[in-house]
Amino acid sequence: MASKFTCKCGYTVCTNAFEGHGIYALVTDHEFDLLKEPITTEEITKLLWVKSRRMVECKGCGILYLSSMDSNNYIPYKKVGSKPST
Ligand SMILES: [Zn+2]
Repeated sequence: MASKFTCKCGYTVCTNAFEGHGIYALVTDHEFDLLKEPITTEEITKLLWVKSRRMVECKGCGILYLSSMDSNNYIPYKKVGSKPST
């Protein structure tokens, strides 16, 4: 998966956790429920950075991108309730 891409607004969106800001790791409730107490740092790190999907926010226009399960691309989603750009 590329570590950055250009948003349709022209802003460069970084998807590398060491370079980017506003990167989210999404975990299903099922995956979270599979963790056994006590939860170790290794287990939570594996869940957040290996088993999760990534979501990034374009800092230029605010569109959210969700990593695709079928390819190495990010799929754009417009924020609900966001104001149209002027
Ligand atoms: Zn943008």
